[in-house]
Amino acid sequence: MRKTILIVSDGLGDRPIEEFKGLTPLEKAKTPNMDHLAKNGITGLCHTINRGIRPGSDTSHLSLLGYDPEEFYHGRGPFEAAGIEMELKHGDVAFRGNLGTVDKNLKILDRRAGRIPDTTGFIKELNGMEIDKVKFFLKPGTAHRVGIVMRGKGISHKVSTNDPHVEGEQVMKIKPLDKSKEAKFTASVLEKFTAKVHDALKKNPLNDERKKKGLPEGNYLLVRGAGYVAKTPTFFERYNLKAACIAGAGLYKGIAKMVGMQILNVKGATGLPTTDVEAKIRNAVNALDKYDFVFVHIKATDNLAEDGDFQGKKEFIEKMDKAFSKLKFVDALTVITADHSTACSEKKHTADPVPILIHGKGVRVDSVESFGERACSRGSLGHFRGLELMPEIINILGMSELYGA
Ligand code: ZN
Repeated sequence: MRKTILIVSDGLGDRPIEEFKGLTPLEKAKTPNMDHLAKNGITGLCHTINRGIRPGSDTSHLSLLGYDPEEFYHGRGPFEAAGIEMELKHGDVAFRGNLGTVDKNLKILDRRAGRIPDTTGFIKELNGMEIDKVKFFLKPGTAHRVGIVMRGKGISHKVSTNDPHVEGEQVMKIKPLDKSKEAKFTASVLEKFTAKVHDALKKNPLNDERKKKGLPEGNYLLVRGAGYVAKTPTFFERYNLKAACIAGAGLYKGIAKMVGMQILNVKGATGLPTTDVEAKIRNAVNALDKYDFVFVHIKATDNLAEDGDFQGKKEFIEKMDKAFSKLKFVDALTVITADHSTACSEKKHTADPVPILIHGKGVRVDSVESFGERACSRGSLGHFRGLELMPEIINILGMSELYGA
């Protein structure tokens, strides 16, 4: 069977930068390896959700993997929870949580409890709590973050957050977001849960130690990103491809896990600009022995663009390109693209389509000779939607089913 490597460089697409004489960071960067792959492959521009829609990283990844977010995206919580390897079942409602600090009037003093390094000792005794026959599972994420999963009958993700996102403001009451009895019930259970958690945290001896050291207490659980766990067919069920994922950041591992991919942990893969891209690519190529499809996520291009750091983004793209040198020789279909554009000038995701290249046996090579936003606009893939990527890949692999007779 033919193999595929899909590399998603988060927020890779960009807009012209004045200081680069109107070039984008990708166009300005020296990228001999990506240029080689583009020259010997096919290229185009991808609207990962649709024209004019600014994609979130979660929805755009689902789309690129062939899962229509309209059907499979019901909030971010489940993907974050899956990313820290919490067990999820169809019907669960999951949240992203922060251990924060409030005063006695529930005014938020610190949304991250002084970026507390580890929440394990705070949430251990709260895991498995049951309220009105709804069970709560909690797991520490990185630093102040906590994954929260609700399991029980008659629950809904249509509930608001208790996090005003601003310090100095009061914790907000969790409210139902629609008129259903499920939303009303869930909001009331969550209100009881957060009150109970607050009581327990206040008594936690770890907070006495923090007080003594002059550190903010971890005494309140802020919840947001409510999401419903949809019934999701696995990648293997959909495409008959055994798939694995290499990523540094939790969200992307979570998305991969939700579609049944095996998560491969690579030392040095951090999701930061200092990440070991070379190790990620080396491990991805090695994983092709065992897997048919390896999805590699690289985060730093997005973070640097959100900071407006176009020079840093350009340099990181050059670092990535060096790591891609071995992809020229690998016997697999190589796909390089982004989940959305992140414009350094805007410091946010934009709806501008992202460049894409597909290299490998069977592709009808086009006349594009380099990898960049402008060059790819002349590519033979033209403009297409993210949901159309997997059918393209499946066709090139020779696995597409005949439509008709
Ligand atoms: Zn993204």
